[in-house]
Order: sequence, then C-alpha cells, then structure tokens
Amino acid sequence: MHGTSTLEEADRLMTVCNSCRYCEGLCAVFPAMEMRRAFSDGDLNYFANLCHACGACYTDCQFSPPHEYDVNVPKTLAVARAESWAAYAWPRAFSGLFANNGLAISIIAALCVAAFVFGFAALNDRQAMVGIHTGPGAFYALMPHSAMAALFGAALLYAIVALAMGVRAFWRDIGEPIGMLADPPSLWQAIKDTAGLRYLDGGGVGCVNEDERPTDRRKIYHHLTFYGFLLCFAATCVATLYHYLLAREAPYPFWDLPVVLGTSGGIGLLIGPAGLLFEKSKRDPVLVDEKRTGMDVAFILMLFLTSFTGIALLLLRDTSAMGPLLALHLGVVFSLFITMPYGKFVHGLYRFVALVRYARERRMMAGGASVPE
Ligand code: SF4
Ligand code: SF4
Repeated sequence: MHGTSTLEEADRLMTVCNSCRYCEGLCAVFPAMEMRRAFSDGDLNYFANLCHACGACYTDCQFSPPHEYDVNVPKTLAVARAESWAAYAWPRAFSGLFANNGLAISIIAALCVAAFVFGFAALNDRQAMVGIHTGPGAFYALMPHSAMAALFGAALLYAIVALAMGVRAFWRDIGEPIGMLADPPSLWQAIKDTAGLRYLDGGGVGCVNEDERPTDRRKIYHHLTFYGFLLCFAATCVATLYHYLLAREAPYPFWDLPVVLGTSGGIGLLIGPAGLLFEKSKRDPVLVDEKRTGMDVAFILMLFLTSFTGIALLLLRDTSAMGPLLALHLGVVFSLFITMPYGKFVHGLYRFVALVRYARERRMMAGGASVPE
C-alpha cells in the first residue's frame, strides 16, 4: 500500500516497466528502477524527481494508450513529483501553496509590487519619486541601502532555510542514511549531469513536444534560463562585495562587472523563459500534468519579469522613470525570493538531489554492493 493513489499508479507502471525494460537507455529513471524489485514511497518519489519530463518513454512505449496497460510514465511521474514537493514543504502549513500555485504566486507578486510602490510613494516626496537621480548611491535616495539589505537578506535567508528543510525531508524520504556531502564523487557527477541537463534529451534525440519529432529546443531554453539565473545571482554577489569591501555604491557603469554579468544573465532570462513558455504551449497535452500548468507558467513569468524589470531599470536609470521602475523591480524580486520554496523553483533542487543519489547507487553497484531495499 502506498500513501497516495498517484504512488499506487506509479508503482503499477514501474512494475510493468521493470518487466519490459525497453526504455532503459533513455534516462536515469529506468536504470534506477531496475536496481529494485519492489518500490517504497520514497523510491517512487525519487524516480519522479529523477525524471526530466522529456516524454520519450511515452512516445516509445508499446503499452501507452489505447493499450489496456495504459502506461503513461511522464504524466504519472509529473503528478507524483508535484505531490512530493507539497509533502516536503517547510513549514508544512505552507504546503497548500502548491495547490492553485499560479493564483497564489500572482497574488503574492501583486501584493509585493504594490507594497514597494506605495512604500516608496509614502516614504519619499513626489519630487524624489519621479526625480532624476544619478551617480553612485542614486538608488539609495529612494530606499536606504541598510533597509534594502536587511529586507532582501531576510527574505533570501528564509528561502534558503525553507529549501534546505525541504531537501532534508526528501533525502530522508528516499532512505539515504548519510549526508549528501559525504560522497564527493557522487556530488561531482550530479553537478556535471545537472550542468549539462544530461537527461533532458530523450536518450539523445531531444524532447518530445507537439508531435513525435523530438528537438533540443526545450534543453536550449532551459540552459539559457538556468545560466541566466546564475549570472544574475553572480552579479548580485559581486555588487555586494563591491559595496562592503570596496565601498563602491550602485548603480555601476555599463562596463563594470556587476552590470556585465547582470546584463548577460538578464538576456538569458528573457530569451530562455519566453522560449520555455512557447515550447510549453506546444507540448502534447497527454504528457502534461494540467493541474500544475499554472505553477509552471507562474515561475517562468516571474523569472521573465525579474529580468524585464531589471533591464528596464538599467536602461532608464538616468531618467525620471527610475523611482517607479526600482519599486517595480524590487517588488518582483522580493516576491520571487519568498515564493521560491513553494513553487516550480524547487524542481531544480530535488532533481539535483535525486541525481546525487543516482550517482551514489551507480557507484555502489559498480563496486558490487546492492541497493538497500
Ligand atoms: S515505458 Fe513502456 S516501453 Fe518503456 S519500459 Fe515502460 S512499459 Fe516498456
Ligand atoms: S519522460 Fe523522459 S526522463 Fe522521464 S522517465 Fe520518461 S524517458 Fe525518462
């Protein structure tokens, strides 16, 4: 007996697949499944988060509908994956945010933007709000750096703690007895697999989208989004070091490192999410967990808006639009931070953790050990 009907269905499918084994070369899910003869809830959640939703095992399956076995691995694992994220959420009281996630994120984002816009308007006179501020420290004419650092530092710290608690719950659920960092080779293998999105290629041919002709477009747009996000994060880190170590205040010139990193990342975060949205609109509905479409779209839009408002601020920072744009950008970024543990953002972390476990299992098997039941 499993904890949910989704896990019951996942168990049924994995039992069929374990007899068939036709898809074992497509991704990491099938080799991980083949290491077992029975599946616990934790094993099924592990497979679900190991799956990259490429869709290849549906297209290739001789038992997919209308066959009576009704095998649809991508969709069943997508539902199990989303349900596992809600189960691991910290604090548990917020796990409900995963349901109707698109609406929840939209409301939180709108409230955050409104709070920054009205806060700026209330704390500054009209002259300052729509005035022209230039040179180092221009942003802090509207919001003191100390207040900005305290507010965003607290939001980021909260997100990191909540995400770490979720990862801890997942690691325990999948039955790993030791710390993740205790096995550096597996960690390194998972980093390489994540950096290259190794399993988002349907076994080498690409993702299945609107028809049965696979392409690499989803992988390319995902790379642009992922590396764009990392570059923007690096820009923020460098700017923080500039502020505290070199006593250099933002905004910085266009040629300076934080701006170069932020602009490069921002372009990736415009093209990547736009491409992912386009690809999503063309996905075969049979592969998709329709109930979570709102969550996927909300996360993609939040990344796009973060970049769009950031680039608009960069381009118009020497004009009277700087005040309203700064409020808008800060509102979007703040809402992105506080909603990160309760939306699609978590897929990257749990997938990475699943890849660490997979690499560990592969190493154990190569060493002649068996996977603990
Ligand atoms: S998805 Fe279908 S073809 Fe692939 S292993 Fe499972 S049953 Fe076999
Ligand atoms: S959808 Fe792709 S990644 Fe997921 S189980 Fe099927 S082949 Fe593997």
